[in-house]
Amino acid sequence: MTSPSLHPAIDNGIQAGSKDFAGGYLHCHCDAEPVQITVTSQSAHNHVCGCSQCWKPEGALFSQVAVVPKESLSVTAYADKLEIVDKSAVIQRYACKNCGVHMFGRIENQDHPFYGLDFVHTELSDETGWSAPEFAAFVSSIIESGFSPDSMAEVRGTLKALGLEPYDCLSPTLMDVIATHTAKAAGRLAA
Ligand SMILES: [Zn+2]
Ligand SMILES: [Zn+2]
Repeated sequence: MTSPSLHPAIDNGIQAGSKDFAGGYLHCHCDAEPVQITVTSQSAHNHVCGCSQCWKPEGALFSQVAVVPKESLSVTAYADKLEIVDKSAVIQRYACKNCGVHMFGRIENQDHPFYGLDFVHTELSDETGWSAPEFAAFVSSIIESGFSPDSMAEVRGTLKALGLEPYDCLSPTLMDVIATHTAKAAGRLAA
C-alpha cells in the first residue's frame, strides 16, 4: 500500500526557506486571468494543517499555511474574482470564484491574537525561498474529513520522519501566543 499524499510540498521532502527571501507572487489555478496576490515579506509560522477549513490541494490530506503581515499583502490582479468563503468564520478566507483556490485569509477582529497577520498558501507561488513548514497542526481533524482513524499512526509517523511534529491543536509556541494574549486582555499579565 502506498502512503497517502499528505501535501505535495512535503511528500518528497521539505525544501528549506531562504534567509534573504522577501516575498513574491501567489496565483490561483485558473488558466486564464488568474487572481494574483503580491506579498512583500517572507512568510512565518509555515505549517501543514489538517483542519477542514483550510484549502487543500486535490488529493492532499493537509493544507500548507503560513502567515505574513497584512500590510505586506495586496491583490494585484483580478480582485473581482475573489469572494469570502464563510463570512461568519473568524478567518475570512478569500477564494477564487472560478477555481476555488483560497488566496488569503484575513482576521478583521482587532482583539484576536493573530490580528494583523494574513494566512497564505505559499505553494501558490512560483518563487522558491518561502519559509519551510515547521510543524503539523490539527492532525486529528483529518478524520473529520473522512480519513480512517486506523491509519493515524502511519500519518503521524510520516510527519515525524519529515521533522514536522504532529499536534492536535496549534504548536506550543502558537498556543502560548494565544494564551498570553488572553491573559493580557484579562489583566492577569502586564500588557
Ligand atoms: Zn482561479
Ligand atoms: Zn487549518
